[in-house]
Amino acid sequence: MKNKPAIFCLLLLATLPDGNKRASGQSTGSTPLKTASYIEVPVLCYHNINIKPTKENDYTISAFHFEQQVKALYDSGYRSILPGQLYDHLTKGIALPSKTVMLTFDDTHESHFSMAAPVLEKYGFRGVFFIMTVCIGRKNYLTAQQIKMLAAMGHSIQCHTYDHPPVKKITGEQWQQQVDKPVKKLEAITGKRVEYFAYPFGVWSEQAIIELKKRGIKAAFQLSGKKSTTEPLYTIKRMLIPGTWSEKKLLKELARVHTVKK
Ligand SMILES: [Zn+2]
Repeated sequence: MKNKPAIFCLLLLATLPDGNKRASGQSTGSTPLKTASYIEVPVLCYHNINIKPTKENDYTISAFHFEQQVKALYDSGYRSILPGQLYDHLTKGIALPSKTVMLTFDDTHESHFSMAAPVLEKYGFRGVFFIMTVCIGRKNYLTAQQIKMLAAMGHSIQCHTYDHPPVKKITGEQWQQQVDKPVKKLEAITGKRVEYFAYPFGVWSEQAIIELKKRGIKAAFQLSGKKSTTEPLYTIKRMLIPGTWSEKKLLKELARVHTVKK
């Protein structure tokens, strides 16, 4: 989302049962392992999905083309994982199949429920939906009920701030508005933990990593910027998948990720 939303909706503040409360102010302190079995997992980033095939660009893919891409992944032997599995792989060395992929969807588009989820279901994939909470229930965006259903279907619902500011512009108490409250709201909707974060515009900062750690976020996803040498878990790269890419191009780019030397 490029423009700051003009309408601000009321946050539903709800708390989880005691046993499920997040440990605020707790730093995870985990560092990634580098083992012989460590693999580079391609993390794909999609935005909107459109029924019309004529509107494809970096941020929109047609529903038909999206299914062709997912089918190509499936037919090539790829299987999907969720952030917890990637985290366990990176921090505990828990093995993953070599053809592993993560599919992520940004910005709360309604098409994620109506078009992406049925395709993922058809091929047995699970996705990660990074939600900016200001949009929930607005026209063409996901409703709370749809988000709840996505979570119940086994997809992962994670945080993409309240209204999508660049993290470099978030200061002081604004972190509560942009991370603490959205996390609580999403946890209340799904009944599941929210522990992963996608940087708006894919851009991270050192200060943001400090703030995310304080708030119990275990890992964070950027787009294709520089990876931090000291905080690789908070600068995990994703590939923006343009709607114009053919299936062949997608598979070629994924193969390239697998050949990256760590
Ligand atoms: Zn975004």
